[in-house]
Amino acid sequence: MRISEKETVTLKKTSDEQIVFRTCPLCEAGCGLAVTVVDDEVTHIRGDMQDVFSKGFICPKGSTLKQLHYDADRLRHPLIKRNGVHVQATWDEAWAAVDAGLNGVITKHGRESVGAYLGNPGAHGLSSMTFNSVFLKSLGSRQIYSASSVDQVPKQVASGYLFGSPSTVAVPDLDRTQYLLILGANPYDSNGSLCTAPDFPGRLEALQARAGKIVVVDPRKSKTAQHADEWIAIRPGTDALFLAAIANTLAADGLEVMDQRLGSFLNGVDEVVLALQPFTPEFVAETTGVDAQTIRRIAHELRGASSSAVYARIGTTTTAFGTTASWLVDVVNIFTGNLDRVGGAMFPLPVAGSANTRGAGGSGKGFRTGRGHSRVSKHPEVLGEYPASAMAEEISTPGDGQIRAMVIVGGNPILSTPNGERLAKSFADLEFMVSVDIYLNETSRFADVILPVPSALQRSHYDLALLTFAVRNVANYSKPVLSRSANEPDEWEVLAKMSSIVSGLGVETSPSTIDDRVISKLVESATKDSSSSIFGRDCEEIISELSVAGRRGPDRILDFLLRTGPFGDGFGSVRDGLTLDKLIAAPHGIDFGALEPRLPNILRTQSGKIELAVPQLIGDLKRLEVFCQEKIDATQLTLVGRRDLRSHNSWLHNIEVLVKGKDRCTLHIHPNDATRLGITQGSAVRITSRVGNVDAPVEITELIREGVVSLPHGWGHSMPGTKTKVASSRAGVNSNILTDEQRLDPLSGTSVLNGIPVSVAVV
Ligand code: SF4
Repeated sequence: MRISEKETVTLKKTSDEQIVFRTCPLCEAGCGLAVTVVDDEVTHIRGDMQDVFSKGFICPKGSTLKQLHYDADRLRHPLIKRNGVHVQATWDEAWAAVDAGLNGVITKHGRESVGAYLGNPGAHGLSSMTFNSVFLKSLGSRQIYSASSVDQVPKQVASGYLFGSPSTVAVPDLDRTQYLLILGANPYDSNGSLCTAPDFPGRLEALQARAGKIVVVDPRKSKTAQHADEWIAIRPGTDALFLAAIANTLAADGLEVMDQRLGSFLNGVDEVVLALQPFTPEFVAETTGVDAQTIRRIAHELRGASSSAVYARIGTTTTAFGTTASWLVDVVNIFTGNLDRVGGAMFPLPVAGSANTRGAGGSGKGFRTGRGHSRVSKHPEVLGEYPASAMAEEISTPGDGQIRAMVIVGGNPILSTPNGERLAKSFADLEFMVSVDIYLNETSRFADVILPVPSALQRSHYDLALLTFAVRNVANYSKPVLSRSANEPDEWEVLAKMSSIVSGLGVETSPSTIDDRVISKLVESATKDSSSSIFGRDCEEIISELSVAGRRGPDRILDFLLRTGPFGDGFGSVRDGLTLDKLIAAPHGIDFGALEPRLPNILRTQSGKIELAVPQLIGDLKRLEVFCQEKIDATQLTLVGRRDLRSHNSWLHNIEVLVKGKDRCTLHIHPNDATRLGITQGSAVRITSRVGNVDAPVEITELIREGVVSLPHGWGHSMPGTKTKVASSRAGVNSNILTDEQRLDPLSGTSVLNGIPVSVAVV
């Protein structure tokens, strides 16, 4: 069936059957889905063949939005803990309990005594992307934590220093590059991260079909490495050294190509070249486990290709040198002359705008960290947060500013952040805790109140965050597929109510009041910005135009962002510009084309140049040099994580169709290590790190470097007090019991999840 872009979001197929098109919010790929609905019941989900970006591609998780919605364990009503047991409550009872609990702690101990943790799903939701920050601002505490500090913060810090904004991340121009060097990423299983590209595997295969080359650097021969033209089995945690040696080689050979293309945009080239001098391929070879000849060859291939890009992800960011490795990715892209170039590493132009489309282009305030330090270990603030690994000590260490209450929004940090056992003990000691969550899980079981939000199919959607990392400039809006009952407040309404409670406006204040304040502030700020398309316009006129369609909450904010964005209609000032109405009329999305060069306009550094030689990063090279000279213990096993196509962190493990089949929570070990340790296929082993131990079954495989073992994260569903029947029956073990909260990348506060020293022994 062919469906025109001009038709409305729903299409009548029979008298009672509709196909509704929407974007999958589960991972960063953002695939288009065609959802068949009969009488407000979802019967089938498949890929939307006409989606402008994904063209019909989905992975096995996409169709499970249906199972997620109908999951009997998904919470539909608030829960309140009474006498240690969670019981169903009305929303009025729940709000009264939240009001008493949070404001009781604030009154007794002050605002800094309330902490908040935001989970990964928040980055994938329109409501959370627009109202989480409203809640945090109302809370007024600096005790803010999130899943970002066990994930991508190093890339954002490096990008912030280089380009002036942490949201200015260069992505590989996947569809046009001829040479792709991938480090620590496995898009065949993850579908990509910080690089939004539905059907990432198909795009890689197209690269190879046009005679391009893919090289994967990873301690595991992941699915992506198996499909690549070359696999380099690096030692975990040494990517920064490998990249430093590549950059050193490029500099030694001469940087004429870079000078021609990018010279006028760069500050600090000479300082970087000087600081990289110790990092010859020979110097790093033993520590990285990659011979000098291979490093030189890869450097020459990157420079010699008609276009090339380096792309690195979680295997490089969640290491002790995560920020430096992320910075060196762009140093290499710059040294080869491939930054901001077709086929190289390019900057998306987000349709709904971002920090690099707003304000005067070409220079700005720049980027910094350290606006405050954590109370106990003095970690610097990064992106308005402290490291997730510091949460437990901030709760359990007495003194002024000790956290006495927590608000967890869409997160399960006991399974996803370091030293989960210590964190669980600290949560048990809190005076009050509230979780905004769809499950009674390993973390929310400690909550005094659990506030459920509707399922993804009941919410509207636009990928505000992830489309800022897309390999094409696209926009795609989804209306809710299924209705909500009167007793199911939307996610933004829950967050707005939380906001009014902690700001002192009281439990009676309606979410609409908060919403009106939010839109007024946004409009007022844009009308005062001389670079905005609505500079000098009347606020009331803009707000009434936004409200004509009766829109509220995130949809009204989205309309505002689209209309004032780079492709927007500027509220009448740009002919044929984009509005939300126009986007709704295009149910398969709108493609605004391939990425185009954006320098120098994209820069927000104070100098108006790319700041290559930021002192923090140059300084960290000294630490890297010392690390490279440390003696290697050949008998030491090192633990890394791994992704599985059917899993996504911890929260999809209650979907039977995704977890059935063979056990996926196994320890991968190389045959030589297994033989040395007397381990046989399938036997149970105990894995021990400095902070804990877990038992897991073994899979002996040659698809891993000798000396490295691998365990996936997000498992460990055997804890008491949860209500996730399927997940509990296939519990697995929590790999974060092994993660050491004291090991961090000091520049970003990001935990070391890859490269944990462990011992392994037969149980
Ligand atoms: S790849 Fe990601 S966005 Fe696409 S269907 Fe799978 S989970 Fe959804």
